[in-house]
Amino acid sequence: MKSVKEVGDFENKKVLVRGDWNVPVGENGEILDASRIEVSLPTVEYIKNRNGIPIIASHFGREGESIEPIITYAKKNYLILEEGVEFLENLRQNSGEETNSEEFAKELASKAEFYVNEAFSTSHREHASIVGVPKLLPSFAGLRFVEEFEKLSTAFNPEHPFLLILGGAKFETKLPLVKKFLNIADYIFIGGALAQKALETESLTQNPKIILPVGDLSALDINQETLVLLKSKIENSKFVLWNGPLGKYEDGYKEGTLRLTQMLVDSSAPDFAKATPGKKVIIGGGDTENVIDELNISHKFFFVSLAGGAMLEFLANGTLPGIEALNQTPS
Ligand code: ADP
Ligand code: MG
Repeated sequence: MKSVKEVGDFENKKVLVRGDWNVPVGENGEILDASRIEVSLPTVEYIKNRNGIPIIASHFGREGESIEPIITYAKKNYLILEEGVEFLENLRQNSGEETNSEEFAKELASKAEFYVNEAFSTSHREHASIVGVPKLLPSFAGLRFVEEFEKLSTAFNPEHPFLLILGGAKFETKLPLVKKFLNIADYIFIGGALAQKALETESLTQNPKIILPVGDLSALDINQETLVLLKSKIENSKFVLWNGPLGKYEDGYKEGTLRLTQMLVDSSAPDFAKATPGKKVIIGGGDTENVIDELNISHKFFFVSLAGGAMLEFLANGTLPGIEALNQTPS
């Protein structure tokens, strides 16, 4: 995989930039969180500064929906997009996107001479704009794409003790992660709605690395005793990776998750009295982002991934279809 940084000059050629501008939108069409747009802008700027003409393409919302309101918002709010940038309609308006049709990949590739993937968060999908186009054009990873890749990869070769904290739901989607990290992590805490399922999985309960909440495993939020336990585990770690809320936060059970977030903020800062550096903390997951977003503390951590489901797949498998496609691109 080559970074877009390896291109010194785009020589006035068009560069298809696959972003993930599928941002959450409120009832009146207002954008609730523009982070995924914002993280793609340094790449757009980089391309423009090196004489490239970016063509930004993304999927958005439900099939058939127009991405136009998002583009209008972005142009109005970010100077870099005002001039010299082109845009494509919602990629999923074409049925060939999700079926990964060669025809649609060719149509997209015909619009540009280079391709840049700046949609790490969609790169677990074998879609035409993710895996089809890189076969046809010289292709590169965007700046944020590379950052997601590099920062998340530190979990494969972590500082020890390494504590993995898993919460949330959908046990089946988290089990591959548990299995993989049983070989790497020193402790794996399994909370949230996963705890009950973990208890029913014999291979996990027998493993001394696995830590479960204290008390009622079907509780809608994590209890005080368990938070104390988690705190001591965090204090003994050098590296913490966290995915998944610890309570049913949509229904107001978010106290425990917020308390955990605060503990991680505190331990991310260096302790001058003890002359110890801050701990390396990585946080990610769609719902997890939702909860911590309101606190505005993302910058306090080593890394907050915006890759959602793609992050889980990357961590479980060490790669993604979109990464493999970039590795096989023509030069
Ligand atoms: P992420 O998107 O961060 O990976 P998940 O999608 O796995 O997280 O899980 C989020 C869901 O888990 C939320 O809907 C939340 O309500 C649910 N959840 C977390 N803890 C509990 C709990 N203790 N009881 C019930 N639901 C929970
Ligand atoms: Mg989720």
